[in-house]
Amino acid sequence: MRVALEPRAEWTRDANIVIVGAGFFGLTIAERIAAETNKKVTILESRDHIGGNAHSYIDEASQVEVHSYGSHLFHTNNLKVWDYVNKFTKFNDYKHRVYAIAKGEIYSLPLNLQTLSQIYPGVTSVEAATHLIGGFVKENKENFQDMAISLVGEVAYELFIKNYTQKQWQTDPKKLPPDIISRLPVRTNLDGRYFSDKYQGLPLNGYQKWHERMIDDEKITVQLNTDFFENNHEIKENQFVVYTGPIDRYFNYKHGVLGWRTLDFETEVLDLDDFQGNSVVNYCDLEPAYTRIHEFKHLHPEREYVPGKTVIMREFSRFAGEKDEPYYPINTESDRDKLLKYREDATRVKNVFFGGRLGSYQYLDMHMAIASALSLFENELKPLMRGSK
Ligand code: FAD
Ligand code: UDP
Repeated sequence: MRVALEPRAEWTRDANIVIVGAGFFGLTIAERIAAETNKKVTILESRDHIGGNAHSYIDEASQVEVHSYGSHLFHTNNLKVWDYVNKFTKFNDYKHRVYAIAKGEIYSLPLNLQTLSQIYPGVTSVEAATHLIGGFVKENKENFQDMAISLVGEVAYELFIKNYTQKQWQTDPKKLPPDIISRLPVRTNLDGRYFSDKYQGLPLNGYQKWHERMIDDEKITVQLNTDFFENNHEIKENQFVVYTGPIDRYFNYKHGVLGWRTLDFETEVLDLDDFQGNSVVNYCDLEPAYTRIHEFKHLHPEREYVPGKTVIMREFSRFAGEKDEPYYPINTESDRDKLLKYREDATRVKNVFFGGRLGSYQYLDMHMAIASALSLFENELKPLMRGSK
């Protein structure tokens, strides 16, 4: 693998396939092509690092691995993806747990028997919790608010969801799609894990090493600080492109701009061993303005750190303007209308494949981005690459 810190037009010219974006989607495609074909790949990445939003770095003062874009927890039920990722890294056995602060009290999140008993004293058995939750279910769950109330009930909605969602999305919860909240399980037992997936953990040697290992092949080149649109990279007819940037940008926003949320992160090194006692704590009231605080050292209890130091990151959410990084697709009805048009256009562009979170305008977890890239490779790219010169 060769890496340049600026555009290299000759690398683009030489490549059989040009990948736009070095996130998990782009890295997986690059890895598969290098491993299974004799084709040359170049990756264009507008940022100064590979790994996309799953990038991390080691903070010198504390030796803590900081996830540059908020805590990234790997979890999947997909054995094919789990086997695939284990080719590049080993994982620790960290299981993610989140606590929520609301009205001055700390609760376990997602809702479980412990949380329910704090809200409804006397609900102390699985049976009682099951009965309670059964009573919340509503027929109408077409939007986020109805779905949330149907899952957790009015009281927990007011306590944990309404204000947090206001800070996170600044969109009327009735205009948000229901699937955003169905990501969160509601449990009737005392399981406090955030994710129920069979396979979970964090890369033992960090995300950066994992990303580097994926593309450690001489047929792969990477051009950092290189925006696909700003660098006049001419793509020849016999080249293929995998585009993982925002789909609306590819078509010059001709059907309108898709709505995104962006995040602002404030990172601070503290002279403390432990700030909050857990990796992530959510703030569910309107004040403070941040939605959560990450404290990364808790993600790797197996590591040695500099005593008396910790790194925290406050996360703020807002609408993405033109110059902001797009993180979460908002996906209102009007967004979905535009998306259909862009997807239709995408089917007509020859030799260009759209994928990843930005290219599909879908909230994809890492394992989903990897699974989707593996299937694009198997079903479309591999047969094409093997047939092309
Ligand atoms: P990205 O990681 O976004 O990579 C796309 C890359 O394309 C970026 O590096 C971008 O700079 C580059 N690019 C875009 N346009 C251009 C252009 N024109 N030219 C050149 N380069 C371009 N997933 C989990 O599984 N667990 C988690 O805990 C988790 N937490 C998350 C927290 C946050 C705040 C966010 C935003 C996401 C989180 N995710 C999590 C999702 C995870 O980050 C994504 O699944 C993963 O990043 C998807 O990979 P991707 O390659 O599709 O996109
Ligand atoms: N959510 C909430 N309160 C919380 C945590 C989550 O209201 O304390 C809602 C919020 O709308 C969020 C959604 O549940 O967008 C999904 O939560 P998740 O933790 O999956 O969000 P993400 O990891 O995408 O930030």
